[in-house]
Amino acid sequence: MGKLVHLLCPDCGYQFISKYGIGKTDLAAGTRDFPSEEEKEVGVNFAQYIVDNPHELVFIRKLIREHRPVILKTWEHQPYVCPHCARLYNRFTYHFLFKNGDYAPSFICLDCGRVLEKVPLKQAVLCPKCKQRNLAVDNVVPWE
Ligand SMILES: [Zn+2]
Ligand SMILES: [Zn+2]
Repeated sequence: MGKLVHLLCPDCGYQFISKYGIGKTDLAAGTRDFPSEEEKEVGVNFAQYIVDNPHELVFIRKLIREHRPVILKTWEHQPYVCPHCARLYNRFTYHFLFKNGDYAPSFICLDCGRVLEKVPLKQAVLCPKCKQRNLAVDNVVPWE
């Protein structure tokens, strides 16, 4: 369950759909084939959310193996913005807790290499295309 926020630039027509989604365990949804023992262990099918980065899946499974038992505190879709060039991204983020620490990913701008920042639900964002205006919220729809 989550929200899709349609953003629109009143000046140049740039559009972006921000994805916000709080995870619930896939185990609760009934019997589910997990792609790995590690994902079964935490009850979340990362492969279904992270479709464009196989290296990240390998990393997550290794992290679970090396630090078990781990607790998955949060996992959600979240929009990010580059503080330098204003490019917008949707990313799947998560936060693991384990005995001697924790881990949450950081994401990098594909254009300029800066570390991306989360965009909270109500925060206005600059249009990454014309950089003249903030994007207006055009529409918000529930996202199953
Ligand atoms: Zn950037
Ligand atoms: Zn614009």
